[in-house]
Amino acid sequence: MTNKKLHRVVLIPGDGIGPEVTSAAQKVIEATGVSIKWDVVDAGAGALEKHGDTLPEDTLDRIKEIKIALKGPLTTPIGGGYRSVNVILRKTLDLYANVRPVRSALGISIHHNPIDLVIFRENTEDLYSGLEQDIAPGVAQSLKIITEKASKRIAEAAFQWARKNNRKTIHAVHKANIMKKSDGLFLDSVRQIAKKYPEIEHKEIIVDNCAMQLVMRPHLFDVLVLGNLYGDIISDLVAGLVGGLGVVPGANYGDEVAVFESVHGSAPDIAGKGIANPMATILSATMMLNYLKEEKASARIKAAIVLFLSEKKHLTPDLGGNSTTDEMVDGIIRKIMLLR
Ligand code: ATP
Repeated sequence: MTNKKLHRVVLIPGDGIGPEVTSAAQKVIEATGVSIKWDVVDAGAGALEKHGDTLPEDTLDRIKEIKIALKGPLTTPIGGGYRSVNVILRKTLDLYANVRPVRSALGISIHHNPIDLVIFRENTEDLYSGLEQDIAPGVAQSLKIITEKASKRIAEAAFQWARKNNRKTIHAVHKANIMKKSDGLFLDSVRQIAKKYPEIEHKEIIVDNCAMQLVMRPHLFDVLVLGNLYGDIISDLVAGLVGGLGVVPGANYGDEVAVFESVHGSAPDIAGKGIANPMATILSATMMLNYLKEEKASARIKAAIVLFLSEKKHLTPDLGGNSTTDEMVDGIIRKIMLLR
């Protein structure tokens, strides 16, 4: 039984496959009986077309007021064009901890042993600060900003979570052999926080070695704490180990506000075809349900997904099937009903 509270959540359908996967998550939540009043707002390329602004004031105000949002992906132009709205949103709302649990679901992982690791990606600085310039013809510069404050905050979030969830090891991922100042500060900040958590083993690994070890021996890893850029790249790498971008959820936490979104982008190559895998967004919604203290509904959806995947039926093309988003959603909802 769920409590019958009516929650209020901001919904940003987003660009590309965003509307398809967020509406899938809404349907799945509805099937659990949890009541949510959705405040639907625009951001990204769609908002630019509609309102002449990629991040309208009303969208920001609504998230600041309600403090919780489920968000579809927003298209970021490559090379030129407007700045990433995802980055602006995370920075403006100070959503400093990007948390991405990566678990192999039955039958779709490329590894035989189950993978269960959690990524804590710093979300507000690093090479994403947007400080770029052409300094001479043929020479461009991007500034990597690392602060003690942001590094300690993400480390604290990772260690706190590890303690609460009985996890054993945290790897701090870096390239401090080359970037001695910036990554050196990141490492030093994590070390200081690690001292407060003696029961958790604290390890350090250079990012390139980390990438190789993750492919060959992912079971060596438990919790990873990384800067913004390494966190972005490593997240996609580990997604590839457990079935691809279609299955990895995420959450952006600040002290006041939380925004839940999958790791994948707007996938323009498959947008509008009705074949996007909705699982990453549905799993992001289960993280949101936990945040709303609807833990039973969250656990029920996750159990339904495990059951659904074990049958290897009604899978979208990215998982080797030929079903549509709607067929997958219907299949998951049928399992939710069985687990009543
Ligand atoms: P961004 O730059 O916004 O992070 P990205 O580089 O991660 O985006 P995506 O838009 O996520 O790129 O797409 C990468 C590939 O993964 C594309 O081929 C896309 O179709 C596929 N993909 C991403 N999400 C899904 C999904 N939910 N279902 C099926 N395929 C997906």
